[in-house]
Amino acid sequence: NQGIGSWPARRARMTPDRVALSYQGRDQTYRDLRERTYRLASALGVGRGERVAYLGVNQPGLVETFFAAGLLGAVFVPLNARLATPELRYILDDARVSALVLGEERDGAGLPGRHITAAGYAGLIASGSPEPIDEPVGQDDPCLIMYTSGTTGHPKGAVLTHGNLIWNTFNLLVDVPLAHDEVTLVSAPLFHIAALAQTLIPTVLKGGRVILEPSFDVDRTFELIEAERVTVMFGVPSMFGFLTRSPRWAGADLSSLRHLLCGGAPVPEPLIRIYQDRGLTFLQGYGMTETAPGALFLGAEHSIAKAGSAGVPCFFSDVRLVAFGGAPALPGEPGEVYVQGPNVMPGYWQRPEESAKVLSPDGWFRSGDIGVADEDGYVRISDRLNDVIISGGENVYPAEVESVLFGHPAVAECAVIGVPDDRWGEVGKALVVLRPEVGAEADELLKHLDGRLARFKIPKYLQFVPELPKNAAGKLLKAPLRKLYGG
Ligand code: ATP
Ligand code: MG
Repeated sequence: NQGIGSWPARRARMTPDRVALSYQGRDQTYRDLRERTYRLASALGVGRGERVAYLGVNQPGLVETFFAAGLLGAVFVPLNARLATPELRYILDDARVSALVLGEERDGAGLPGRHITAAGYAGLIASGSPEPIDEPVGQDDPCLIMYTSGTTGHPKGAVLTHGNLIWNTFNLLVDVPLAHDEVTLVSAPLFHIAALAQTLIPTVLKGGRVILEPSFDVDRTFELIEAERVTVMFGVPSMFGFLTRSPRWAGADLSSLRHLLCGGAPVPEPLIRIYQDRGLTFLQGYGMTETAPGALFLGAEHSIAKAGSAGVPCFFSDVRLVAFGGAPALPGEPGEVYVQGPNVMPGYWQRPEESAKVLSPDGWFRSGDIGVADEDGYVRISDRLNDVIISGGENVYPAEVESVLFGHPAVAECAVIGVPDDRWGEVGKALVVLRPEVGAEADELLKHLDGRLARFKIPKYLQFVPELPKNAAGKLLKAPLRKLYGG
């Protein structure tokens, strides 16, 4: 078995007694994980190529089902636990799953297909065989159907092969030297690609210890970092932002942290500096579900010098920027980000037309994001094609404006959207969540932008809002914002 499903067993050959997973105070060694995945795989009743879905927050069952499916050559379909029943039904029908494994907190009401409840799951593990499973699984076999975050519309099922995920792991390890003794805190949801592929999979490959948390909680994060001496963490920028606004931030002992991985959304420069002041450097990345996910990487040594960029292409991958006319974008010129490499998905699940729209025959994937490279090839992700505001013929990238706004001490969170304007076609409107203890007037915030941004980029309107809508990945949802405030 050349697939990822065999990794717990491969690890257990070398380091059977090391802790693989910790969850709510209970530890599981690599030997335990190997045995439990064999037992589960033998009893699951799912065959090669069939889809097995998992619905639940981070917990050992999710990890075991992922590896067990991989052992069988079955395809794991992690479901976003925050979706509503009709949305889940859409995905379960779309993927035509043979079995749905339910996390401890779920009952599966209203969902189609064969359910494996938490009690049923314990029964499968108890009744299954601990004997090795040896299905021939190759790198080109599908490992996951992972649905995209659904930031821009309906989630799409990206098929990721074992090879895609293995090459992504290589891409990561080339530049992030994980050791055998990492303690990786996984509190970002494993049903999104970053937590799964950038933290869980590489930590298991190295034989480190994964601390699973059902969700991200600020106090709990500080508690675990200090008590368990966490060394690796992944978060989207908003998660790292929340930590800095906690009363615990100033006094926390963060000395155990070795690698902070941040990505999934633009990383504001002020946030990078706040961490830098504590002696902590972000490793930043840009990627997407369809590329499993790493495409660009910014290592620690350039974190400050190239702050604001998402780095250069990952070692085994290539990225190019295509200007709007179709020619290669020159340094300083915006272009759509294309990605090629062994981590790029073969296509969307049963969507040949959608796949053909984003994948060229020679394997270049169109991301729908806009990037600008500097003279050294460092790419700054400006924004999504769909979010660009065109004001008086000039392109305004909301992410850039948001980053500058975020530099004002009163701003906790912000988003910039385009609203129709008679004179300019579109103008920017900033929506700001204030830090309760600081506070500011709209004029003061707009003045903060003056001189830091060209006039045409400065939002015409600024409105204070109590909160900003985000999806389960912690990403800002611009579509509902436009609906609420775009008029
Ligand atoms: P959907 O495709 O369903 O609309 P999504 O694109 O948010 O959702 P993901 O695949 O989870 O789903 O996210 C990938 C996207 O996240 C990228 O295309 C990009 O827009 C954004 N992104 C990821 N990393 C970064 C980064 N470092 N800087 C800026 N944007 C980023
Ligand atoms: Mg996308």
